[in-house]
Amino acid sequence: QKINRHPLVYFDNAATTQKPRPVLEAIQRYYEHDNANVHRGIHELSNRATAAYEGARERVAQFINAPSTKDIIFTRGTTEAINLVAATWGAANLREGDVILLTELEHHSNLVPWQLLAQRTGAALRFIPVTGDEGTLDLSDLDALFRDVKLLSITHISNALGTINPVAELCAKARAVGAVTLVDAAQSAGHLPLDVQAIGCDFLSFSGHKLCGPTGIGALYARTALQEAMPPYQGGGEMIATVTFQSSEYHVPPHKFEAGTPNIAGAVGLHAALDYLDDLGRENIHAHDTELASYAKDRLAEFDGIRIFGPAGDRGGLVSFVFENVHALDLATMADQQGVAIRIGHHCTQPLHDKLGVPATARASFYFYNTRAEVDRFIEVLQKGMKLLS
Ligand code: PLP
Repeated sequence: QKINRHPLVYFDNAATTQKPRPVLEAIQRYYEHDNANVHRGIHELSNRATAAYEGARERVAQFINAPSTKDIIFTRGTTEAINLVAATWGAANLREGDVILLTELEHHSNLVPWQLLAQRTGAALRFIPVTGDEGTLDLSDLDALFRDVKLLSITHISNALGTINPVAELCAKARAVGAVTLVDAAQSAGHLPLDVQAIGCDFLSFSGHKLCGPTGIGALYARTALQEAMPPYQGGGEMIATVTFQSSEYHVPPHKFEAGTPNIAGAVGLHAALDYLDDLGRENIHAHDTELASYAKDRLAEFDGIRIFGPAGDRGGLVSFVFENVHALDLATMADQQGVAIRIGHHCTQPLHDKLGVPATARASFYFYNTRAEVDRFIEVLQKGMKLLS
């Protein structure tokens, strides 16, 4: 479509992606033919809805190579998944003196839940530092970083800088000190092949809407052995085995963590999205996105007075930058007038931006449907804008 009379260039994929037609059709087909509530019914439609919902769970397990379908808890997205771990595993296992190890790159959704938990339990937060504008992790003193650590919770790919973190190595180090691990895969699940067994994490979370699926659905991988010992998250229907007026016995994992009617249509859409991505091939998506990000970075480097953030080598499919003399808000507004959608702000990583000494950055983030020609158009729009604004 055209935006402000110009062909749309959508470079806000780290915030949310567009939805392919097969995803929309799967959701519509579900509502037109199979709509009913899950698990509780014995009629045909309820059986179909249950099969679709549980089929989606199986598909998620396969997508991230989880050993069992039971390891998959459906959530509203990454944020709810991390809050679930904090409220259940965290509340049951952390106490004063324990350390929660994060990185300085974390999205607020992998920071604020741990701040809340630290306030409640007396646990302390510690951060793996990033090295300057490149935003790679400083891992020079791992032993000191991991002292007294009970939980390591880190992003796989930084939504602000595009840094790809060595999650398998860090999870191995955490395991060696007996710590539990969580990987925030919000920016990686739809962009590269993911294997929770190869990463060696205990928890991993992602959001459907960032990988061509609908909003309001995501998944938490949680090793079943840990789920057994975790208290429930929310109470209600679906998560119980038996209930008396005074107390309840809970359903087996993962249902114990899914109170109430779930987002069935969302799970159906997510299933279709995962099929779509695997038809394209996640290796191909990764190669395309990183190539486009590095092309955009090279083209941006043509500007005077620009500061470009993120690693020099391999990066996720995005590039963030600021101009010395032009405010990011003016830039994004002007880009929108030319049909180019980019995002500005702290991208839910305010402490990282404080450390970098900038209140906001502009971010262009890419997906498999973006092209080099669109990057060229984006650069052209910036060139025009810089002439006008500076
Ligand atoms: N973690 C990272 C790295 C993200 O980029 C995002 C969203 O931008 C989130 C977590 C939160 O995802 P959601 O808002 O879908 O829960």
